[in-house]
Amino acid sequence: MNIKQTDKQYIAGTYNRFPVEIVSGKGSLVVDENGKEYIDMGSGIAVTSFGVADEKWVEAVAAQAGKVQHMSNLYYTEPCALLARELCERTGMAKVFFSNSGAEANECAIKVARKWAAEKKGPEHFTIATLKNSFHGRTLTTLAATGQEHYHELFQPLTPGFAHVEAGNMAELEALAASTPLAAVMIECIQGEGGVLPISREYAEALSRFVKERDILLVVDEVQTGNGRTGRLYSYMHYGLEPDIVSTAKGLAGGLPLGATLLSGKVQGILGFGDHGSTFGGNPVCCAAALSVLGRIDEDLLGQVRAKGEWLKAAFQGAEGIEGVTGLGLMLGLKTTKPAGEVVAKCMENGVLCLTAKDKVRLLPALNIPMELLEKAAAVIKAACAG
Ligand SMILES: *Cc1c(COP(=O)(O)O)cnc(C)c1O
Repeated sequence: MNIKQTDKQYIAGTYNRFPVEIVSGKGSLVVDENGKEYIDMGSGIAVTSFGVADEKWVEAVAAQAGKVQHMSNLYYTEPCALLARELCERTGMAKVFFSNSGAEANECAIKVARKWAAEKKGPEHFTIATLKNSFHGRTLTTLAATGQEHYHELFQPLTPGFAHVEAGNMAELEALAASTPLAAVMIECIQGEGGVLPISREYAEALSRFVKERDILLVVDEVQTGNGRTGRLYSYMHYGLEPDIVSTAKGLAGGLPLGATLLSGKVQGILGFGDHGSTFGGNPVCCAAALSVLGRIDEDLLGQVRAKGEWLKAAFQGAEGIEGVTGLGLMLGLKTTKPAGEVVAKCMENGVLCLTAKDKVRLLPALNIPMELLEKAAAVIKAACAG
């Protein structure tokens, strides 16, 4: 049996994989089992922030793996503490809880919001409003938070206490708040899985006023949009939002599993001894990787991410077979005339790996993808949309 057959026989059938086995890579180039090279415009769904097998990243990971790879959260380790400080200093948040994934980072956000609301407002204030078409993860609670019915159907009953409102529709949120005591509103500033759909500036401002007036928490899910992806360290910074809780994961450690839930001063004391925990969370190798990643996401790099995003947008705008471009920085969605899946298959044939999100072609290249590769990839994508 070859690898594809072995995988099909032994791996649970949840993934509809592309017919490609990736065996190696360097930066934004990856190589398949036949030696064919591809430009990676997906970064493993916004994870490999500086591409594959990046030298500085490998160095940081190897150095920490050679010192101590795990000690559990019963002991102090340096990378974990330094990473928490870095995240707080760069966001103005007060404390961090580390986990291993986006769903777990959101689980922690939800637990903090519930405990805060129960203590400060009363136990009936448990409902969290999330947006329709959102995506917050695959655990039963984050599925309940996810505002897409088709993910819910087969797994009833889900965790209660979530209500979904239309993005951009303040009247619907106000009506909900009038009938239901709320703990928090939880949003993605740009819905990723939902089709690369940014919220509007007006909606962000109205939301910000709404949560402040009612003393409701604002939770921003930065799992996909975070860590430089949109051209700011976190996407809420484009909107001037002041979240009480921020969750992030995907690109944070550049390819190792790490989730982080950032807590503002308002909620920093909510979690006490034993309220939450994780065996692997804050793993020193993952945290060392994240320190290396964040250390490279400076103003200069963020400027380059914004400039490359603008360049890509301009390249695609008005191109044949492309009906629209959405997103910010290096998180872009293309509405194509042809079905997105067809475009992605054509691109793969021609040596470019792209993703889809709903009916869009989704692009999430490495933050440091060289301009020359971006130009080549854009040409292949445009041809695939037009042809
Ligand atoms: C991917 C994603 C998640 C889930 O992250 P996992 O690491 O797969 O658990 C949650 N929220 C958003 C916005 C995401 O894009």
